[in-house]
Amino acid sequence: MEHSLPPYRLRRSPRAKYLRLLIRPDGIEVVVPTGLSDATVLAFVRQHGGWAQARLEELLARLAKLRQGQAERFPAEGGSVPLEGRETPLFIEETGGSRIRVSLEDQGLRLILPRTCGADRDRYVRDALFGWMKRRLPGRVTELIERHAPLHGLYPRQLRIKSMRTRWGSCGPANDINLNWLLGLAPLSVLEYVVVHELCHIRHRNHSRDFWELVAAHLPDWRQERQWLKAHGGGLIQRFDPAFR
Ligand SMILES: [Zn+2]
Repeated sequence: MEHSLPPYRLRRSPRAKYLRLLIRPDGIEVVVPTGLSDATVLAFVRQHGGWAQARLEELLARLAKLRQGQAERFPAEGGSVPLEGRETPLFIEETGGSRIRVSLEDQGLRLILPRTCGADRDRYVRDALFGWMKRRLPGRVTELIERHAPLHGLYPRQLRIKSMRTRWGSCGPANDINLNWLLGLAPLSVLEYVVVHELCHIRHRNHSRDFWELVAAHLPDWRQERQWLKAHGGGLIQRFDPAFR
């Protein structure tokens, strides 16, 4: 009997060693090493397509549940994290021992927590995400600073990623810039806006017209990004920072 194949897309990768199926929120992806015949690929998809389709349906059901209001809950197994604004499935594993690890994999974000975390689990998840973001975000932000700082000579002295209750960023008197770690869960364009906003405070220590003109010189669409923060920023804090609930 001929089984109907689920929709999938091919990605040829010279670095891939094996045929692989990836389950992503936008569909099934088949990673194909160079040199494999179409017949081999098709046979592989015939053999594993049913399995992949079932995994995809599970993933989509989880994400749908999440969008129907459970998004306000703290992320748990079966939940997701909006990395750079894109909902990314979250997998939590509990192991013996005390190590906490976070890794970004093809299927999503994997957290390894000590089995002993028990009732403090929310706190462990939050701390793991915060620690990971403190390592990940500076690279992204440095790229943005390198893009914008030279335009008007706005160079910060230092960058810190922090947990802040009511602010997305701040710029101190010595031009030290602090950014809220939750910006790693907002679209990149929003992160860019906050970085530019704080860089512009190096020149203008206020929100005067001159200040906003300087922001607009860097980012003509800044209003849209600021609006995103007004609409969704509070939700990010509610959802991911139980310290401030
Ligand atoms: Zn400001």
